Amino acid sequence: MDPVLAVSIFALGLAFGSFLNVCIYRLPRDLSVVRPRSACPGCGQLIRSYDNIPVLSWLILRGRCRNCKISISPRYLIVEILTGAIFVACYAHFGASLATLKYCALGFLLLGLIFTDAETQLLPDKMTLPGLVLGLLFSFVVPVNDLASQLLPGLVPLPVSSNVSWHLWSVTDSSLGAIVGASFIYGAGAIYLRARGVEGMGFGDVKLMAMVGAFLGAKLTIFTLFTASIAGSLFGLSTVLAVWIKRTRRRLRRHHESLGEARRRGWASAAIALRRHQMPFGVFLGSMAMLAFFYGNSFLHWYWGLL
Ligand SMILES: [Zn+2]
Repeated sequence: MDPVLAVSIFALGLAFGSFLNVCIYRLPRDLSVVRPRSACPGCGQLIRSYDNIPVLSWLILRGRCRNCKISISPRYLIVEILTGAIFVACYAHFGASLATLKYCALGFLLLGLIFTDAETQLLPDKMTLPGLVLGLLFSFVVPVNDLASQLLPGLVPLPVSSNVSWHLWSVTDSSLGAIVGASFIYGAGAIYLRARGVEGMGFGDVKLMAMVGAFLGAKLTIFTLFTASIAGSLFGLSTVLAVWIKRTRRRLRRHHESLGEARRRGWASAAIALRRHQMPFGVFLGSMAMLAFFYGNSFLHWYWGLL
């Protein structure tokens, strides 16, 4: 790894992260990301260019507007640093190659979608749909399954004659990934709607997984779906348990009920809270997709080694 190149890539990541913050705020609100220039949400003062330097400006101003001193969310700082970190991680992992460019693009999109989903429960089409197209286009220049074929030689014998180029397989895998990802979420959403009568997963998640599938191909898409379901379930379960314990304690303190009674009623109210609570599943899908393109193949390789 060339240190000068690594530092430049990190700086580039910070700049992209700064733009990503604009996207995270504006896209769910249907605002243009190009115009007008950024202004303080508190006083409307346009942000001067010297107050718009990634990371540094936030630190120098201690997270406040220079004009009205309203506090600026630490999310701005976090997104910038994370984007820089992801860009460098891609370079460290994939070297100076087109693959690095591809996974920087995917990391950028995923990070934006994770934060918009967490903040607004929306996954804007203006990120997922261009992302889907970009994923398909990248499959022409970066083989979707190149890592797989390196790590798992001969595991999946493709019925390929030597005069069929890898491009065809790559594009097929990319399209298949998009179809698998989208249809799985669509199906799971339909089952969830039947079972609980509320919408658990929206079309945003369907398009998110179509995009992820186009970038990662079918195998890592299944890995993403599987690990995100586990992570989401663990998160949901621990949330319910935490709410249950908290409400049981409160009932014991305030209402002086017997332990059994407090537990029963605490559980009933935790169940209602769960039903009302909408889990941002896109956050889990996005995070696991990120994990998948760095470690998915090594994990599957290790796992198949165990079988
Ligand atoms: Zn202000």
